[in-house]
Amino acid sequence: MAIKALRGFKDILPGESEKYRFMEEQARQVFKNFGFNEIRLPLLEKTELFARGIGDHTDIVEKEMYTFKDRRGDSVTLRPEATAGIMRAVLEHKLYSQGRDLKLFTIGPMFRYERPQKGRLRQFNQINSELIGSQSPLADAEIIGMAWDILTRCTSAELRVEINSLGCPDCRPLHREALNLFLENQAKELCEDCIRRSKTNPLRIFDCKQEKCRSILKLAPLIKHYWCPECSKHLGEVLDFLEIFEIPFVINPYLVRGLDYYVRTTFEIIAQGLGAQNTVAAGGRYDGLSKVLGGPDLPGVGMAVGMERLLLLLDKDDYSDRLQLFIAALGREAREEAVEWLKEFRDNNISVQISYEDKSLKAQLKQADRLKARYVLIVGEKELEEEEAILKNMETSQQQAISLDEVTASVIKAICSETEETQE
Ligand code: ATP
Ligand code: MG
Repeated sequence: MAIKALRGFKDILPGESEKYRFMEEQARQVFKNFGFNEIRLPLLEKTELFARGIGDHTDIVEKEMYTFKDRRGDSVTLRPEATAGIMRAVLEHKLYSQGRDLKLFTIGPMFRYERPQKGRLRQFNQINSELIGSQSPLADAEIIGMAWDILTRCTSAELRVEINSLGCPDCRPLHREALNLFLENQAKELCEDCIRRSKTNPLRIFDCKQEKCRSILKLAPLIKHYWCPECSKHLGEVLDFLEIFEIPFVINPYLVRGLDYYVRTTFEIIAQGLGAQNTVAAGGRYDGLSKVLGGPDLPGVGMAVGMERLLLLLDKDDYSDRLQLFIAALGREAREEAVEWLKEFRDNNISVQISYEDKSLKAQLKQADRLKARYVLIVGEKELEEEEAILKNMETSQQQAISLDEVTASVIKAICSETEETQE
């Protein structure tokens, strides 16, 4: 039987790869606008990094990681998210000692062993950015602003930011206590998962999708009633900045994160029309992470855009570049002549193809059509004799004669001037 790709792993074929490139280009421009620099990291890390950095009692670490032993018997894991790896690199290379905020982004694949469905894969791609070194609410707002800008450049789908504050080490324990008390009393009513969570990572029960748990949790104590004055002030300022940036938001008091190191700001960007997997981007503040990984006290805030979900929202079907020129050469002599022009076109960044077989003009024009070529340069025996080739604009069907004397320069000029005109 023919071998197929693994379940939940997909090939990104021509036609779709251009969509990925488009999303990446938008992201890179936004990162440039915000002054963020790229960091490229290994896909494989020590398992311990994620166990410590993401937290043992999270969905990711409990059941979603691709973990295996390498040939020496060491436990390694394909990265399920980017933040822990970025922080590992920041600490390992002491990037923080440069005395300024670190502004980093990375784009690439993540791996989670989940049930594949629409917008959910086992290898998926994320656009990530992390701002390390600042506790300012403006840093949070800039991170949300970057995710927002990337999404709105790619799609006109209706989006909204949902935001919450998870409190800080000062106010969180009080909420935790109240929540634990509440859960003890409700234990009989909760689903098995939630009973387990209530012992290991109680905040995560707010993530439960079961109706029954959800209705019970409507009565649960909410972190917002426990925010200390600093946490309230921080969130208020983040929201003020979002207003200045003209980013629409709603406060969602039930929003929590599956990742343990998050404090204060947590957010998701939700899109209309995506069904169950409608969170396109998510992120928040993780001031505790650096210390958990053995580093100094380093605040941080970051975000991740899920590219496969954004892909479903793109406005256009086709992001591929059109071929600019197809050369239809008829006969051996014309072909030998035309082959000599190819290099100059390409040196001038004109994309050009020529038929590898000697075919009729009709067949070659058909080929040019299939390639969606903008122009076809026709040259045959007759043209050689008359020292003229014909340049045909495939959109308007207009033809013009081009002298074979300096043919490449003339064609380049004709193509460039028309392209400029249509772009105006
Ligand atoms: P979900 O609740 O959908 O499982 P999550 O909370 O696990 O999401 P994060 O860890 O916050 O997701 O990852 C950030 C973003 O990455 C998500 O908002 C989503 O867009 C995307 N994402 C996460 N898991 C997957 C996956 N298995 N396949 C495709 N995209 C994903
Ligand atoms: Mg998940």
